[in-house]
Amino acid sequence: MSLKYFTIEERLNANAWDVDVHRPHIRIKDPDKCRTCEKKPCTYMCPAKCYVQQGDYVVLSTEACVECGTCRVVCPHGAIEWNYPRSGMGIWYRFT
Ligand code: SF4
Ligand code: SF4
Repeated sequence: MSLKYFTIEERLNANAWDVDVHRPHIRIKDPDKCRTCEKKPCTYMCPAKCYVQQGDYVVLSTEACVECGTCRVVCPHGAIEWNYPRSGMGIWYRFT
């Protein structure tokens, strides 16, 4: 019997989201800190690629967030405000 291995993209595509467009659950509270953030770990540690570098700054889009909390942990400058989405909103995990 062989096991099927799924890529991270396949796993993420199996999920669904109810996006809270009026209240993003994560925000960069101090974008100026991103300018001096040398390695910008959020841009490569987020599994959903929610952070994209644009020049010295970073643009955050929370629509595909899997609520793992990685960005909050790896940000070396405490620049991120992180909350869970409101009840019933956010990711619905479907992968089994
Ligand atoms: S890790 Fe934090 S400070 Fe650095 S670019 Fe990302 S949000 Fe900004
Ligand atoms: S909580 Fe996880 S998936 Fe969501 S933005 Fe942060 S690192 Fe990305």
